[in-house]
Amino acid sequence: MSKSEVTGAGSKQEAQARLLPQRSCVGCRQVRDKRQLIRLVRLGNGEVEVDVTGKKSGRGAYLCPRPNCWQEGLKKDRLGRALHTSLTKEKRQRLLEYGQSLADEKITGAAS
Ligand SMILES: [Zn+2]
Repeated sequence: MSKSEVTGAGSKQEAQARLLPQRSCVGCRQVRDKRQLIRLVRLGNGEVEVDVTGKKSGRGAYLCPRPNCWQEGLKKDRLGRALHTSLTKEKRQRLLEYGQSLADEKITGAAS
């Protein structure tokens, strides 16, 4: 088998339990591995968006991939405070919808 076709996606090094950076969710305040959280970033122009790559520069805040946390974080505007910005009602609504959509995608047989 040739190993020359590695695309760089998904290397299997997770067996090495390395110390991962930890962050706390602005919704439930639980501290989790950074990789288990979704990063939101405040861009230079004050816009806040979901940073799916986790690599955008700007002030970041984290939320669990659970609708509850997005509701907590957005309705009490903890997210805005964490990012030192003010989120418009419209923006919060859009992020809430994003949080809801995370629940939809999770219907893959998780018995919880
Ligand atoms: Zn949370």
